[in-house]
Amino acid sequence: MPACLKIDVISIFPEILDAYLGESMMKRAAQAGLVSFRTIDLRNHTHDVHRSVDDRPYGGGPGMVMRPEPLFEAVEAVRTPESRVILMSPQGRPFTQARAGELSGEKHLILVCGHYEGVDERVRGALVDEEISIGDYVLTNGILPAAVVIDALVRLIPGVLGAGEEAVEKESFQDGLLEHPQYTRPAEFRGMKVPEILLSGNHEEIARWRRDQSLRETRKNRPDLLS
Ligand code: SAM
Repeated sequence: MPACLKIDVISIFPEILDAYLGESMMKRAAQAGLVSFRTIDLRNHTHDVHRSVDDRPYGGGPGMVMRPEPLFEAVEAVRTPESRVILMSPQGRPFTQARAGELSGEKHLILVCGHYEGVDERVRGALVDEEISIGDYVLTNGILPAAVVIDALVRLIPGVLGAGEEAVEKESFQDGLLEHPQYTRPAEFRGMKVPEILLSGNHEEIARWRRDQSLRETRKNRPDLLS
């Protein structure tokens, strides 16, 4: 049995993630002992009466910035020599299927979720090992990005998908292409027919058709993947 991947998530909204991790595939992966989740309320690492985690930016400007002390304290409370500390950040490297696969082989991940205008630069410079962005847009806080990263990597842990694991190898991005179109019953729906080739039983021809369709989809929607 593969070792259990431990994932700690530090946020001011841990309950949002708890709801997601308590359902479906994430729940089953945890029940099977393949992954263990802990959500940590950043406010438990504050020491003032207002439990404040943010302050005004030096130099002026709009919004608030997350203070370094609670973030350092929260990470240091759970970090071990095996930990990889990751900040969710629009300024990070774009998250990919390949990175999800690499992270699924780690022993302990600590995901740090920002809020407000982001985190004090000393967190980026001296506390985290890497920053991950889930796309070129700005969300209100890091809890959804953390859920995205967790979902993508947990389903790649051997044993999590069970019988569905074979399908992963044929999914979008695994071989640098988008997946081919899929059909199920009925063979005709509102005049739209399933391509004959898929009903032919000729596995070689079907594989060739799927490959051609993958290339077509990729050329149409994601030509950047082909270069
Ligand atoms: N001021 C920051 C900027 O312009 O880059 C944006 C801060 S955003 C409103 C607050 C937090 O949401 C970030 O610290 C990060 O944790 C999270 N976040 C927002 N968009 C994200 C994205 N695309 N990928 C990963 N995390 C994101």
